[in-house]
Amino acid sequence: MNISGELHCDFCSSPDIVKDYPCVSFVAIKIPAITATSEGKWVACAVCAALVDHNKWEELAVRSLQTSGHEDSPAAMKALLLDFIRVLHRQFREGRLRVN
Ligand SMILES: [Zn+2]
Repeated sequence: MNISGELHCDFCSSPDIVKDYPCVSFVAIKIPAITATSEGKWVACAVCAALVDHNKWEELAVRSLQTSGHEDSPAAMKALLLDFIRVLHRQFREGRLRVN
């Protein structure tokens, strides 16, 4: 994802980056609340990196939603966001470049 300024975890926005994941660039789907593009590598904090490395994608999606700043949004909006996050993470999975 393209976040201006300092690097933050692409999954939960934590500033404590421990790992990066080379990935092809892609345009994520857009919904009114979020517009996201992904340019190259993703970075992850320790917690999210562990979820990625163990393929715990549903837990990662829920974590991303909980840290997205939309906690007080209506349930329907949160459901929409969770779907968006799942698609985004799937795009990351499919575009991820294996380095070894
Ligand atoms: Zn994270």
